[in-house]
Amino acid sequence: MQEFILDVPTDAVTLAEAMSWAQEKLNQKGTHFIASVNPEICLAARRNSALLAALLAADLRIPDGIGIVLASRLCGGQLRERVTGIDLMEELVALAAAEGKKIFLFGAADGVAAAAASKLKERHPSLIVAGTAHGYLPQAPDGEVACNIAASGADLVFVALGSPRQELFVAKYGAASGAKILMVVGGSFDVLSGRLRRAPLLYQRLGLEWFYRLIQQPKRILRLPVMPVFLLAVTQQKLFSGGRKHC
Ligand code: UDP
Repeated sequence: MQEFILDVPTDAVTLAEAMSWAQEKLNQKGTHFIASVNPEICLAARRNSALLAALLAADLRIPDGIGIVLASRLCGGQLRERVTGIDLMEELVALAAAEGKKIFLFGAADGVAAAAASKLKERHPSLIVAGTAHGYLPQAPDGEVACNIAASGADLVFVALGSPRQELFVAKYGAASGAKILMVVGGSFDVLSGRLRRAPLLYQRLGLEWFYRLIQQPKRILRLPVMPVFLLAVTQQKLFSGGRKHC
């Protein structure tokens, strides 16, 4: 089932449902795109039509963040559980290792994708890493990275370029990569490589992961006003939508 939050579609899936969707797609023909929906992206998509188009074209849009769950509740929607990008990525990596599927990591600072790949291989010795590329390549255009991914034969590609660059990369070059699934994962490589720590379970359960990230990256304070602005925009849309279950 799908809900629209500020005109961005979000799939009301659990982690287990997202995994069974992905398992099916990994064994089918074609390329599929997993997007993450969070308050920042919903607001950005209002101003950026290319980002909105990329989100509309995605095949699965996970409700990534407590803000999305709150917005859904505010509008009488069904979303009760968030599915974080990093949790889904970790499950997908385990699945790839179990099924002999190849992964490719694209994005983050120089050395971070490679470090994340080694950490993942330590945890899953059978994992096949088809390649990595960092996200600050001044010389190589994104199209070249897509060709490298295609040449690597990767089945699953994780793209960590920050939004909207990561969504636009997948929308433009996803099919050319030849992968079965491309998923955007924001700052996940920073955590998986050990460069940043993930919030302890208690913070995650209380919906305070954002606070833990703020302690580690004080610059994120500039992103803090996003939540009230988002909830205000959702409330406004609800008030003017004539009670439709769509905000
Ligand atoms: N990044 C990148 N290339 C860029 C801009 C950002 O590879 O041109 C990376 C950045 O190093 C980080 C990720 O994209 O690893 C974005 O992380 P952020 O914390 O902003 O994403 P979030 O998790 O908040 O969506």
